Amino acid sequence: MPSTSKNFTAPSVPALNRESLRPDCSNCFALCCTALGFSRTIDFAVDKPAGTPCQNLAPDFSCTIHDSLRPRGFRGCTVFDCFGAGQNVSQNLFGGISWKASPESAKRMFPAFEIVRQLHEMLWYLTEAGTRTFDPDTSHQVDQLRRTIESAMTDARQVLSLNLGDLHARVRSVLMDVSEEVRASYLATGDDHLDIEFTPGADLMGRKLRSRPMCGANLRGAYLIAADLRDCDLSGADLLGADLRDARFEGADLSKALYLTQAQLNAAQGNTSTRLPADLDSPLHWSNNSQEHTRQRTE
Ligand code: SF4
Repeated sequence: MPSTSKNFTAPSVPALNRESLRPDCSNCFALCCTALGFSRTIDFAVDKPAGTPCQNLAPDFSCTIHDSLRPRGFRGCTVFDCFGAGQNVSQNLFGGISWKASPESAKRMFPAFEIVRQLHEMLWYLTEAGTRTFDPDTSHQVDQLRRTIESAMTDARQVLSLNLGDLHARVRSVLMDVSEEVRASYLATGDDHLDIEFTPGADLMGRKLRSRPMCGANLRGAYLIAADLRDCDLSGADLLGADLRDARFEGADLSKALYLTQAQLNAAQGNTSTRLPADLDSPLHWSNNSQEHTRQRTE
């Protein structure tokens, strides 16, 4: 949500990097703070209907409480990731003209943002799939899908008429193939090193898994809320859609985990000894965990 100031970079094919899929709030008309709605919960201090500006939104599209979102009850804003859809919709699809300057555009811009966010999320995963697979046929499928998605985002009308269900199914299928391939390479000696049976969508809330063998585990869609994964090696573990809220990763190795997102990390707990993939950042609140960790060790 609104914070950074980077130069705008349009999404590109065929480069296999995810720089353009990272949020650039300085080139976005705060679409996440207007198009989306949220309800008053532990993650949001107020109700906000979809299609209306948040009460904390400044006239220049920045957030007036950006530096204190968590203490002010807006933790949900710190874990949201638009995958770079905000700047793409604002600058490319709507030519840099905001919903404020052209209020009638809002009824197309806001739904377009929700669709493009899903498309960028698919690109995020596909880009990783393309770098992880060694199978030329799979690699070709990944490239085709990335091109299909990129070419579907050339204008707003096209975006709004997309059949997302079909695309989701095709992307999901190739992501599963790459997951099988990657996990198999970590399970070359069989999966008996995993002393727990991990199944997609497993309920592992609050489970004590510290230092357990996790390489190549299938944690897709798993509920890992508040699970203890400290000092685990999650290389090759499929984390697609896993719920990592308050899961603990201090000392864990996530650098080669599969399908990890910044939003998942932002919702989790870790510290400066947590190893991360090169294109993901250590969340700000993790540095406080590290200070606490150091304090406890010196006491
Ligand atoms: S609190 Fe700030 S970041 Fe969250 S929706 Fe409102 S303006 Fe956006």
